[in-house]
Amino acid sequence: MSQEPILSATDLVTRIREGQWTATESTPRHLAIIAQRNSSLNAFVEVWRDEALERAAQLDRKRASGATLGSLFGVPIGIKSNLCVTGHVCSCSSKMLANYRPTYSATVCQRLLDADAILLGRTNMDEYAMGSGTEYSIYGPTRNPHQEVGPNAVSGGYSPGGSSGGSAAAVAGGMVPIALGSDTGGSIRQPAAFCGVYGLKPTYGRVSRFGLVAYASSLDQIGPIATTPDDLELLFQVIEGPDRHDATSLSRETVQQVETKLRHKSVEQLRVGIIREHAEQDLAPTVRRALEETQAYLKSAGATLVEVSLPRQAHAIATYYLIASCEAASNLSRYDGMHFGHRANVPEQNATLEQVIAASRGEGFGAEVKRRIMLGTYALSHGYAEQYYQQATRMRQAIRLDFATAFANVDVLLGPTTPGPAFPIGAHRQDPIAMYLTDQFTVSANLAGLPAISVPIELGKLQSNESRLPVAVQFHAPPCGESRLFSVAKALHERNQTAKLGAVA
Ligand code: GLN
Repeated sequence: MSQEPILSATDLVTRIREGQWTATESTPRHLAIIAQRNSSLNAFVEVWRDEALERAAQLDRKRASGATLGSLFGVPIGIKSNLCVTGHVCSCSSKMLANYRPTYSATVCQRLLDADAILLGRTNMDEYAMGSGTEYSIYGPTRNPHQEVGPNAVSGGYSPGGSSGGSAAAVAGGMVPIALGSDTGGSIRQPAAFCGVYGLKPTYGRVSRFGLVAYASSLDQIGPIATTPDDLELLFQVIEGPDRHDATSLSRETVQQVETKLRHKSVEQLRVGIIREHAEQDLAPTVRRALEETQAYLKSAGATLVEVSLPRQAHAIATYYLIASCEAASNLSRYDGMHFGHRANVPEQNATLEQVIAASRGEGFGAEVKRRIMLGTYALSHGYAEQYYQQATRMRQAIRLDFATAFANVDVLLGPTTPGPAFPIGAHRQDPIAMYLTDQFTVSANLAGLPAISVPIELGKLQSNESRLPVAVQFHAPPCGESRLFSVAKALHERNQTAKLGAVA
């Protein structure tokens, strides 16, 4: 078995269920890969080795007993460090929560356990999910498993994207077949694109946010990262569904009603809208090619391609960073060293309450988090709220409307996930705005509450001077249109397999 390649979650479940492998045999393989690769990738910040092995043994006993087996039976999973798992540190890669051990599990983590998965450990992320490079972390940066080759290669390695960069790197590095991330403005899709794997941001409300440490509550969604669309769907099916602990979670009836209206369509029946405002942007050559090759493929598969316009796209980034920062400032006000979070060691007899709070927040939060809190607090302050926050919420509504208008005419929307492939670690350290712009194509899905998927694209023959780093395209669907996204991704996955063999020109 040790010679076997790492399997997808779907294949692993089948083998274990059929008795060809046991969880006790397969789990140590994943732990060994982590032990071998994590010192250079820094994808996992904690591995729950003993617990995982014990659980594997327990699952094998369950199988032997003839009990019904869950759909993720024996599958090892990486969990982003902003998701609560009972008894384990949930730090959000922040000093503020470095010692926080929740006494409950996030609904998604509980559902994984109920589906007989094995939680292998927690993955690195940008502090409080604010960032696009998994560099703003108390554990140091994560590295992308992919490297540029030839003269373009950089010695420090490439960013895996962020903020779910640890989860994407863990999947791309073969440590786990699937992992969970969270996406507030692109934090699943952008790292998935940079690492050459699949990532889904579900419809707002389809996946419970209970037990996810809040960044911007009206934008946050938890979602899957995987190496195949089948695995992505498998993981999504386990975590989605209503939850009485999350008042914004959609009921089964609502989802079913909307799904029935959407009707299933195969790729040749699809009307695919090409987002003009995204396609017209300054894209890296390989990203442009990914978009063109995807269009060519869809056309050859019988889909109808039409150009569509989302006129307010130019305002998406400004709208997103305003709303996200306002919600972050509000959500993070609870971390004051009194109620929650890191408490500075200030001699209390000499200090006022404000001084203790200021010192605790000053020590506990990193620079990027402070930047967001200041921006959000300013934008919400008396006299400015109307000028900034209210205006941003109106623009958000207009962006939503743009999508609704587009979906009256097309089934899915196609565009790039990111303007370019992964950047070298540290490339945007001096320039936060350049970092923010890597999210320019992803934030609108969160503003509009839509599902969106990042699909890696295997390019046809590359010139010797072209980048070898992974590239991806993104599809948006109407609310609850996840199954459309899975079917397009599955078709493109097959195309990718052919392209890998060099059969696509
Ligand atoms: N990079 C974006 C931000 O910093 C998105 C983060 C996310 O989706 N969690 O806000």
